[in-house]
Amino acid sequence: MPYLFYGAPSSIIVRMGPALYIHIPFCKRKCIYCNFYSRIYDAASASAFTDILISQVERIKGPLHSIYIGGGTPSALDRKIFEKLLARLKDLTISSGEFTVEVNPESLDDEKIKTMLGLGVNRLSIGTQSLDDRKLKKLGRLHSAARAQEAVLSAHKYGFKNISADLIFGVWGETPDSWKKELDGMVRLPIDHVSCYELTYEKGTPLYSAVLSKSVLPLDSDITSAMYEAAIDILGLRGFKQYEISNFAKEGCGSKHNMNYWDNNPYIGLGPSAVSYIDGVRSRNVSDVKEYMDRARTGRALTEFSEKLSPLKSAKETAAVKIRTRDGIGFDWFRAKTGFDLRELEKKALPKLIEDGFIKYKAEGEIQTGICLKRKGFLFCDTVSSALL
Ligand code: SF4
Repeated sequence: MPYLFYGAPSSIIVRMGPALYIHIPFCKRKCIYCNFYSRIYDAASASAFTDILISQVERIKGPLHSIYIGGGTPSALDRKIFEKLLARLKDLTISSGEFTVEVNPESLDDEKIKTMLGLGVNRLSIGTQSLDDRKLKKLGRLHSAARAQEAVLSAHKYGFKNISADLIFGVWGETPDSWKKELDGMVRLPIDHVSCYELTYEKGTPLYSAVLSKSVLPLDSDITSAMYEAAIDILGLRGFKQYEISNFAKEGCGSKHNMNYWDNNPYIGLGPSAVSYIDGVRSRNVSDVKEYMDRARTGRALTEFSEKLSPLKSAKETAAVKIRTRDGIGFDWFRAKTGFDLRELEKKALPKLIEDGFIKYKAEGEIQTGICLKRKGFLFCDTVSSALL
């Protein structure tokens, strides 16, 4: 049994070098649009939770592809708790060399930056979200535009060489011109990577209720499409190559951890609501920190959902996620990865997607080598992914 992971594992034996994702389920405040699992930070719960995480991390044997601590807000942890967790992770072998932590501007300080640098973190993903104070306020964020910029500058000053900044576009009242100004401001900062996400209205969030009550009017899709295209153009001109639907990076600075997801390679998820994909089994941990801790302490399964993917389903999922990347899907790569011929597997979907102008064939000379998105496909990527599933 390659992974003794569910229930009360005596060890987590890693053979294939999966990526490790750790979900820190605490935030200083809930943003009105967010449907990630997290609860309001309190030091006692965070400390108890971190001790459980550490005991799980200590059972991991073997090299990992990459480590990513996300959430929630990892930087919300008190410095001593944060340090304790990072100190346990620092000795794990990471084959890709990439160790990322997500941080928010309001909870990032110089001491935490130095702690991370000293304990092997080499990539920061900063939740800047916007460089417009009104927009940040609407979204319920705790930081200002000035604080977002300071966070990036401090991380750079102390020595982070791979900094990613998140941006949200499509917020009600926003215009393509104000969005372009934010992009211009962002690319002047010492960052290497930008993740741009369109605001979505998720059921169960306060923002969703505000839309239902008509106190918030979402922007038309032609405006949000224009914003997305502006991001592709402006970031591209400033050296940030789009390498996935929402992600742009300077040469060599693409996220290796995320590429592991898009290649449909294995990963371990620790923490409530985290997803794992090991030996063809996809599972999701319970989405409640207390329940997660209770189960961990009493040796019960941490998962609330689990399914073994058939080779066919796994191949289709591989196609649906890999198409999100700029390079698309190589036929040889796909066959080696899944055992299926992509043209045969998707013989109904591919002609239609090509006819509709979403994708095109890649070719070397006369030989077709794979498929990738066209500009229109980037705008309607969810439609393309669904067609391949
Ligand atoms: S800080 Fe991030 S994870 Fe926390 S509520 Fe806001 S968007 Fe969600």
